[in-house]
Amino acid sequence: MPSLYIDGSWTAGSAGCAPVINPFDASVVQEVDQAGPDDVDRAVAAARAAFDSGPWRATSAAERGAILRRIAELLMRDKEEIAHTETLDTGKTLVESRIDVDDVANAFRYYADLAGKDAGRLVDTGQANVVSKVVHEPVGVCVLITPWNYPLLQLSWKVAPALAAGNTIVIKPSEVTPLTTIKLVELMAELELPPGVVNLLLGDGRSVGAPLTEHPDVDMVSFTGGLNTGRSIIRASAETVKKLAVELGGKNANIVFADTDFDTVVDYALLAVFLHAGQVCSAGARLIVEDPLHDRLVEEIGRRAELIRLGNGLDPGTESGPLVSEAQLAKIEDFVKSALDEGARLVAGGRRPEEPELQNGYFYRPTVLADCRTDMRVVREETFGPILTVERFRTEEEALALGNGTEYGLAGAVWTNDIGRAHRVANGLRHGTVWINDFHPYVPGAEWGGMKRSGNGRELGPTGLAEYQELKHIWQNTAPEPSGWFKG
Ligand code: NAD
Repeated sequence: MPSLYIDGSWTAGSAGCAPVINPFDASVVQEVDQAGPDDVDRAVAAARAAFDSGPWRATSAAERGAILRRIAELLMRDKEEIAHTETLDTGKTLVESRIDVDDVANAFRYYADLAGKDAGRLVDTGQANVVSKVVHEPVGVCVLITPWNYPLLQLSWKVAPALAAGNTIVIKPSEVTPLTTIKLVELMAELELPPGVVNLLLGDGRSVGAPLTEHPDVDMVSFTGGLNTGRSIIRASAETVKKLAVELGGKNANIVFADTDFDTVVDYALLAVFLHAGQVCSAGARLIVEDPLHDRLVEEIGRRAELIRLGNGLDPGTESGPLVSEAQLAKIEDFVKSALDEGARLVAGGRRPEEPELQNGYFYRPTVLADCRTDMRVVREETFGPILTVERFRTEEEALALGNGTEYGLAGAVWTNDIGRAHRVANGLRHGTVWINDFHPYVPGAEWGGMKRSGNGRELGPTGLAEYQELKHIWQNTAPEPSGWFKG
């Protein structure tokens, strides 16, 4: 079956096909179509026509909410199949993939409930014969570009609010992990939305992402991905002055004071960084530990990291899957080498696994590096892999300075039983999310996004819907009469 979806029909791509690789063993899962320049133009034209003159604009928020609720039901109907596909495509464990599908359905339900809740506002002008109101409108044609680490989840944070607000969309998933995106579009195709409301293009950033970003008929680009790609998109969209939402990388601090419960913080430090082999934008990749606890904590985390069971995500005994691609594996090896060259001390990992059954996949052992400093590349840059760096601090001020010590500001955590200190540090961190005595949880009702180089705009929450809306002020004079400004 062809895998592009344009103007309500499945279609083959004009740029041939490309294989989708299973990172567990480098086997080909499936070949998928690749979009060429004509496909890009056709998808944008279909979305443009559906927005400008199709029946979609006339749908009520309640109708759109019902569509989103139906998508959530279909996701639950096919949950096992979707989770299985996500694991084949990304390498993550089936447990993680199932959680992802549940979270995706929750995002659709959340925006189903929110659609139409806020109709705008009346403004008091102080004039009896004037009605002044501010209303919400959709932005128009929205291009949604997603990364490979949470292919379906990141997409749902865009598709659900974009449709709830009444936009038409062109989806461009990562070329590395397109399979569950195709599946989601198949589910939406079951709903028989007007042609052109939802379109899907497959292909890489250069051939498909960049032309979409530059396209004069696209009104908005919502992008999640790396910092350098984000910079390119901001530059490329300048000519046509598009609305932009960019969610970029993170280099997230996990700050531990010595009064914390030891076993709990060991457990969470491992979860924070090694979940999904560290390929999480909010991964707690920088452990920043108060001096009295430092040596004991490093030793125990190193011991536990060596026990993490790598394997096939489909195997129930697997605790962590592979990296997503050979390129990602090479990048991680390079980061570890540069860290050791710059003086880091290897506590655990630092190598590919020895098991014969893992040799074809893109596996790397969970790695712990002590004696790290903020001037090291491995501490400053996002590795997006299973590497934990550890830094030591002595005072609260020092902890805060380290926590804010990179150009990123996506997420971070502070661990302490001193409630005043917990809030002082949480208030001082320039991160979009701060956890106190926890790591990783989020809810669809709370905004997600980054400060500094971690991006602009927010996903989730009411702001995640507002990103896909324009505000319009309508002023009505109910008793017009000449103003008398010009006397002649
Ligand atoms: P990436 O930037 O390489 O690619 C992301 C998407 O952009 C892909 O679909 C890719 O094809 C496309 N793309 C590439 N070049 C493009 C261009 N010039 N114009 C338009 N599109 C282009 O990122 P990745 O490696 O797929 O994902 C990992 C990154 O995503 C990490 O930096 C991670 O932190 C980030 N991420 C952030 C969040 C968040 O919520 N802030 C969530 C998940 C992932």
